[in-house]
Amino acid sequence: WYDEEARERQAAQCPQHPGEALRFLCQPCSQLLCRECRLDPHLDHPCLPLAEAVRARKPGLEELLAGVDSNLVELEAARRAEKEALAQLREQAARVGTQVEEAAERVLRALLAQKQEV
Ligand SMILES: [Zn+2]
Ligand SMILES: [Zn+2]
Repeated sequence: WYDEEARERQAAQCPQHPGEALRFLCQPCSQLLCRECRLDPHLDHPCLPLAEAVRARKPGLEELLAGVDSNLVELEAARRAEKEALAQLREQAARVGTQVEEAAERVLRALLAQKQEV
């Protein structure tokens, strides 16, 4: 379970500060904050550590987290689609390559056959 939690914490990153994990929940703003976000303008706002907020099941938190998650899921899906398109292109190129080779071989064989006839 520890790995699961670590992965979750790693996954929820601040959209404003890449590399910074969302660690806090600003209660008056109901916003997820990272270390950087928390400095300004939330410095005077009461913030809860995210783990504590999750444990307390603060209302609205799940939607906030779901929003972050769906962004990540979309990003991941886009990246996967890109990868798939690339793989398809590569496959197509390979197929076209063998077709060209086959055609060239056929022409070559035909030429050789003609030569032998002459
Ligand atoms: Zn931030
Ligand atoms: Zn705030």
